[in-house]
Order: sequence, then C-alpha cells, then structure tokens
Amino acid sequence: MMDGADMSQSAPVLILLGPPGAGKGTQARMLQEAHGLVQLSTGDLLRAAVAAGTAAGKQAKAVMEAGGLVSDEIVISILRDRLAEPDGTAGVILDGFPRTTVQAKALDALLEDSGQRIDAAISLEVDDGAMVERISGRFTCGGCGEGYHDSFKPTTIACTCDHCGSQDMKRRADDNAATVAQRLAAYHEQTAPLIEYYQDQGALLRVPAMGVIDDIAAALDAIVSDIKA
Ligand code: AMP
Repeated sequence: MMDGADMSQSAPVLILLGPPGAGKGTQARMLQEAHGLVQLSTGDLLRAAVAAGTAAGKQAKAVMEAGGLVSDEIVISILRDRLAEPDGTAGVILDGFPRTTVQAKALDALLEDSGQRIDAAISLEVDDGAMVERISGRFTCGGCGEGYHDSFKPTTIACTCDHCGSQDMKRRADDNAATVAQRLAAYHEQTAPLIEYYQDQGALLRVPAMGVIDDIAAALDAIVSDIKA
C-alpha cells in the first residue's frame, strides 16, 4: 500500500481526500488522538471565521451555505496562517484542503518554504449515493467536537456526548439534501482531479471507506505507523 509514498520526514504531512461524507473529519480526529497529529480542517477554520464575523467569514458565509467552494485566495490565506502556528511539529493531517489544483500548488509551495513535503495523500474511496444519508444523519458535540451519526454512530445516552457528557449537540446548516448535492458536484468538478495530481507526485494512497469507522481507522493507522517508522 505504501508504494510511491514519501516516508522520509519525521513529522508527517498527510492529506485526506474524498467527497463530503467520506469520513475525513472523523478519521482525521481519530488520527489526531492516536498519533498526536494536528487536524487542520479548512471547513472548521471557515466556520470559526463565519461565527467570529471576520471579513473572510463574511465573504465565505453565502458560498458555504450554497454548497460552493470558497475562493482560493481566502482559503489559502486562512490555511497559511494556521500552518504558521507552532503546534504542528508532530505532524499535520489536512482535512478538506486542498480542494482545487490552485490550492494544491499553493500547499506544495508553502511546504517547500519550510523544508517539508507531503508524505501521503489518502483518498477515501466511497460511493456517492451513500453520502447523502451519511451527511444528513450526522451531528457533532458542541462541547468537545466529537462526531456522531443517527444510524452509524449514535450516542450511548440520547443527546449526551459519550466523551464529555455535554448535551449541546449541533447539526451543520449545510448538511441538508439540496446543499449536499451541490457540494458533491463541487467535489467532482474541482477536487477529484487532485487524485491524479497526487498520483503523478507518487503520493496517492487509496483506502476503501464504505465499511465501518473502526476498520477504516485501522487502515489509516497502519499507513501513519508505516510513515512514522
Ligand atoms: P467541510 O467542513 O470540509 O465539509 O467544508 C464546509 C464548506 O467550507 C465547504 O462546502 C466549502 O464551502 C468550504 N470549504 C472548506 N474547505 C474549503 C477549501 N479547501 N476550499 C474551498 N472551500 C472550502
């Protein structure tokens, strides 16, 4: 599975690719806990910017609600600022970035500037048809960020987080059927070409991701352990 992936760095830089609902956020969070990698989610950073009412957040809000992609300029700027923070020294896992070829090239340049490069771009391989159900059932704990799903990963006690006990559960405004269709379209038009981009770089790894969360996590865990070895 590791053919072609770069295993030379001590602090791994990983990318999770896949359509909305593929499980990028869930798996990034599990890798963060298991390996001390820092999850960098441009979706989370943009939602925080929207909530804080920053200039970037104000520009991004309507685009996100419509299921489109926020401009490369805004997203690259937010990601650049986040990468400059000191907590990523044990390695980072990029969740939801890059989403366009312009972003991928910007990331290559940013990493090159700091003497780093991508160890692996992991494509979570899923069937589009199942993504609407996956997305429309999901919710997140507002206390600790743990993700849940009505069918696939319910809380043990109704409306109570298994991890932190909070009862503040949140559903995303863009997790509705109409917006999901638009987000899937944006993925196929603008993000799917990155699979070939990373294949050409020799960094692409494909992981089947239609199974249960723990099996997919085990496959990713093995990849990260290989990279760190
Ligand atoms: P996510 O949380 O990754 O599903 O992202 C939620 C929304 O934020 C997306 O539908 C886009 O509108 C926006 N977004 C997140 N990351 C990016 C990115 N790398 N490029 C453009 N838009 C993004």
